[in-house]
Amino acid sequence: MSRLAQNDRAPVWQGYAWAAAAVALCILAYIAALPVIGARTLFVVLLPAAVVGGLAGGFGPAMMATLAGLAAVGALNGAALVADRANLLEAALFLFAGLGIAAAGHFHQKRAEDGARAVVHLAESEARLRSILETVPDAMIVIDERGIMRSFSVAAERLFGWTASEAVGRNVSILMPSPYREQHDAYLERYYQTGERRIIGIGRVVVGERKDGSTFPMELAVGEMETMGHRFFTGFVRDLTERQTAERRVQDLQSELVHVSRLTALGEMASALAHELNQPLSAIANYMKGSERLLEAPEPDRAKIKGALSNAAEQALRAGQIIRRLRDFVAKGEADRRIENLPQLLEEAGALAMIGAKERGVRLRFNLDHKLDLVLADKVQVQQVVLNLMRNAIDAMEEAPRRELVVSTAPAEGDMVEVAVADTGPGIDPGMAQQLFQPFVTTKAHGMGVGLSISRTIVEAHGGRIWAEPNEGGGTVFRFTLRPVRREELDG
Ligand code: ADP
Repeated sequence: MSRLAQNDRAPVWQGYAWAAAAVALCILAYIAALPVIGARTLFVVLLPAAVVGGLAGGFGPAMMATLAGLAAVGALNGAALVADRANLLEAALFLFAGLGIAAAGHFHQKRAEDGARAVVHLAESEARLRSILETVPDAMIVIDERGIMRSFSVAAERLFGWTASEAVGRNVSILMPSPYREQHDAYLERYYQTGERRIIGIGRVVVGERKDGSTFPMELAVGEMETMGHRFFTGFVRDLTERQTAERRVQDLQSELVHVSRLTALGEMASALAHELNQPLSAIANYMKGSERLLEAPEPDRAKIKGALSNAAEQALRAGQIIRRLRDFVAKGEADRRIENLPQLLEEAGALAMIGAKERGVRLRFNLDHKLDLVLADKVQVQQVVLNLMRNAIDAMEEAPRRELVVSTAPAEGDMVEVAVADTGPGIDPGMAQQLFQPFVTTKAHGMGVGLSISRTIVEAHGGRIWAEPNEGGGTVFRFTLRPVRREELDG
């Protein structure tokens, strides 16, 4: 046990010393009374010594004082003590009273010791608690029912910039920015009246304000306790600044990867793209040359020239469209979720994916449910998923006798909308099936094996899932889900 316990408990000899001193005083008083009482005994004069002994040392000292008193009376009264029966009776009564006082003293002593032990125990657990609070990395703040801070840990001092002595006694609302600062008292009041919980027992991410006025994200968990009719709330606060920075870094890296994989996908399509752009450009050149020739005639055919020029303009627009689509697709851009028209998004991605595919004999068919038209999505990213799936499907059908690609939408479980990309290729290689969505796993000679893993990252970031299954009649269907936006939600 601690030093405290030893210091607080009086040593045993002290009880006996007090009893001895009291006995001596009482005997002196008895001697002084002797001329008056004569041959009679007067044990009552000695009782205080037993009481003092009992209070100061418990059973032992009280009994010692009783026996010493008895002996002293025996010595002072001599034969008169035994000669007189009344005296004997009084002696017996005195002994009995002494025993009673000793027993009472014993219990008193025990109670006092228990009390002292409890105090020591309390002091110890408080010291232990304090040492824990000083070392836990989370800041801890205790407030009373009026929102006044009662305790402010060392970590809280570090986090908020207030010292404990400044903070204790002030309203906890100084630790939060407006408008929460003004609302906190009302919030507590509402909690008392309605029991409605916003944070207590739930925990959530909120914004804290430091003494210097700067704010930071923090995770707050609040517990409630009631002692002796008073409510207290204990808040544990964790600074999320660093975690958020780390998360942002991971997100940045991921979006970098998503972007790089998009460039890779286009890189693989480079020759097809060049060809696709070359077509309108040579068409334009042909129309121009034709017009030039027409103009050389003595009577130029204005209608023909006009037709050629408008064809050329049309082709220029087509080339421009391809370039614009490519530029959007290649642009880095922040992840940006908006309400998008799903059929339009899929048709655009399809146009990009089919570049060069017609020459490979692939037929694309859309089977879109136009009732499911709005989704909340990052358009370029979802198009990237569709492009990956379609290019994989086109690659898979390279050797297939039938080359049909079907992109469809349908309602799915859990109020989601499902996009399916189905091909008539050879199906998934059995060795691939388990690790289809793992990065850098590929069966292609020049494949990177990142397309499907990136696609899964994108789909899951959108709250959906992606999987593959065999296509009826041969081939593979890749399906992924997205969260639709209902028109009612938009109006609401
Ligand atoms: P990569 O296309 O670079 O190989 P992916 O992650 O896009 O990377 O695809 C991984 C592998 O999954 C492919 O190499 C292929 O074996 C298989 N795969 C993907 N789509 C299909 C499909 N439609 N049919 C058959 N196999 C497929």
